[in-house]
Amino acid sequence: MSLNIRVSFSAIMTFLALLLVVCAVQALRSKKPIGKAVGLLEFALLPPLLGNCIILGSSVESRAVWGYYIYLIGMDIVIAALVNFTNEYCRGIGNGQQRPTIMYVLLAADAVQMLLNPFFGHAFGLEPVDVQGKPYYSVVPHAGQIIHRITIYFVFFCVILIYVLAVLKTAKIYRERFSVILTSMIAVGVWQTFYVFSRTPVDRSMIGYGVCGVLVFYFSLRHRPMKLLDRMLSDIVSDLPDALFVYDPAGNCIWLNKPARELTHADLEHLERVSSSLRTIFGEKEFSRDDWVETRIVGFGEHARYFTIESHNVSADSKHFAGSFLVIRDNTDEQQRLRRELYNSTHDSLTGLYTKQHFYDTVRKVVDENPDTLYTAVFVDVKDFKVVNDIFSSEFGDKALCQLARWIEKDMDKRCVYGRLAGDTFGIFVPSEKYKEDKHLIEPELSAFTVSDGIREHHLLVQLGVYEVTERDIDVSVMFDRAHLALSTIRDEYGTHIAYYDNKLRDKVLWDQTITASLREAIDTMQIRPYLQPITDSSGRVVGAEALARWIHPEQGFMPPFMFIPVFEKNGMISEVDKHMWRCACKILADWKGSHDDLFISVNISPKDFYFFDVAAELKALIKEYGLEARKLRIEITESIMMNDQEERMRTLAELRSAGFIVEMDDFGSGFSSLNLLKDMPVDVLKIDMKFLSSSGSREKAKTIVRNIIRLSDELDIASLTEGVETESQYTQLADMGCRLFQGYYFARPMPLADFEAFAFGK
Ligand code: C2E
Ligand code: MG
Ligand code: MG
Repeated sequence: MSLNIRVSFSAIMTFLALLLVVCAVQALRSKKPIGKAVGLLEFALLPPLLGNCIILGSSVESRAVWGYYIYLIGMDIVIAALVNFTNEYCRGIGNGQQRPTIMYVLLAADAVQMLLNPFFGHAFGLEPVDVQGKPYYSVVPHAGQIIHRITIYFVFFCVILIYVLAVLKTAKIYRERFSVILTSMIAVGVWQTFYVFSRTPVDRSMIGYGVCGVLVFYFSLRHRPMKLLDRMLSDIVSDLPDALFVYDPAGNCIWLNKPARELTHADLEHLERVSSSLRTIFGEKEFSRDDWVETRIVGFGEHARYFTIESHNVSADSKHFAGSFLVIRDNTDEQQRLRRELYNSTHDSLTGLYTKQHFYDTVRKVVDENPDTLYTAVFVDVKDFKVVNDIFSSEFGDKALCQLARWIEKDMDKRCVYGRLAGDTFGIFVPSEKYKEDKHLIEPELSAFTVSDGIREHHLLVQLGVYEVTERDIDVSVMFDRAHLALSTIRDEYGTHIAYYDNKLRDKVLWDQTITASLREAIDTMQIRPYLQPITDSSGRVVGAEALARWIHPEQGFMPPFMFIPVFEKNGMISEVDKHMWRCACKILADWKGSHDDLFISVNISPKDFYFFDVAAELKALIKEYGLEARKLRIEITESIMMNDQEERMRTLAELRSAGFIVEMDDFGSGFSSLNLLKDMPVDVLKIDMKFLSSSGSREKAKTIVRNIIRLSDELDIASLTEGVETESQYTQLADMGCRLFQGYYFARPMPLADFEAFAFGK
């Protein structure tokens, strides 16, 4: 029996020790972060086991005492390793992790005091007990041993507390991993306590520690909690927003999640309803088999719902068919969002018509898909729409645009495309045949187009530019540019509502493009040069000249200003021409310096110049560069410069005059001459154009007007110059009326510089 206890316990402990060595090696090799802590714990359990084996095998005290030292100090190390393991294992539980340094210090202090026992004998002594006929040395505890036990119990209790907290604090599904270790530790604790207090001679608790070590290894490194995974998966699948159906190999639905139950109104007790329910919703289909994906639309119009249905087979061991599952996703919200986004990006938010880009894209498609249909592009514009916004309000303006959009829409059919191109411009693309039919209806409507907000009413001047598409391959934007171009020819005519793009217009556009492209070269090579027209005093003596631009074109030959000035006025490049002409005039004046100091040259300034550069600064810089007196370079402006930014223009003119330039008002008597404006205009000379006065009305009336203008200018202290003087009688009459300066064919036509010099200086 005695042999039995000693040998069998030793055998068990040796077996456990071997098992722990295997576990320790495996744990240290494991790639899991916890592996190291487990390995250390397993190794730490070996010395106490060894110590116990020694104690069991010793029949003399001197040997048994070694066993006790190894066992008791080993226990300090085991508990320290347990603390370390627990610290790692319960990481993430509780708020923040603290290193359990205090525990290590306690255990180390305890180990030290135990080591001092041979010197002081304060910890324990041994006494032989008879265990089945042989002495077994058991411990006689002194104060040190009591301290040792308290320390071990205290730390052990703390560790247990940590596991209890872990069990309470973690989600239910994770509890198992803590509760197993907790239970085994409590079992060991109770087992050991039993030996401590029962004073049974042979301590068997070490077996419990060993088993506990193996359990720790298993649960922390080997155990895959299938139940936990199952539960997690089923929770995830239940919470899935998609409807999920699981089928057995026979095609019977065996499980469905919550969204699936809601979709089919079936439940887990009435799974047989699933199939018929799915068929009612989605139509006839074998839902419980094979791998496939489909999209289905259920319902119509606004009530349409969009679904993606996916079926997948499941094979149990990559060979046997184990059933299938079906996933149904309701994409309605997503689809509606996409449709809304698409609509917003293709439709104008105010009028609901197509946006420009979508309109152009659709037109392109229509043209390409109907190669035999002739089409007409119509550019719709509201004249002076800005005024509507200004006079009424932008809300009224918005309403007006919506009414216009509805008007555009009203006669359209499937073959037509229409959209909003920009603020107050719209595009319509219709088969030419339809346009011709509708035109007669549209025209009277256009001239009486009124918009109203229920309180106020306003007449809108709607104009159409029309291009019958003869070149189908050009960009849609170019088609509408052409329609727009046609429209621009009637911009200022209130009576005309429709204008067409024709060959004449096309040629004009081509011409504009050609001369615009060659302008730079024309300036650099002096193809554009000044012709000088003499200006005389009443005695016929030449006192100056007006520099008038001529373009001697290498192919077109001699070109008077009307062939190019209006083109450049429109595209702004007139400023290049003017700067060039001013420079030429300055050069001529500089050449005349010394010999013909009394002559001046007048240059023309386009109203557009003021938009593109600082006119005053440019002119001042020029005369400085050529060392001229400012009064030699006269400046001709027209009243139209006052159309915009009046104050700013007045300032520029005043600046020029104060710099010494003489400012002349050109073409007085043309267009909208305003005597009122004259009073405020800072000008020195009034150029009265005979052309405008003789072109209409009676001669007598014209004479009276001229006489009065001359008198008026005298009174305002403004000199007068008549241009366009063609006959001697005109000249004498004008001289009699008090005019002092003259320019006109009667004296001389504009001529090249050399001719002018011969004319004026008799060279
Ligand atoms: P404008 O400044 O009023 O120039 C006078 C125009 O009347 C010139 O036409 C001149 O040839 C013409 N003319 C002069 N005497 C008579 C006459 O007795 N009878 C008739 N019927 N016509 C006469 P031109 O040279 O064809 O210039 C036309 C317009 O082109 C100019 O009118 C001016 O507004 C503009 N222009 C000419 N050169 C330039 C320039 O360098 N820059 C700018 N911005 N405009 C220029
Ligand atoms: Mg002029
Ligand atoms: Mg003039």
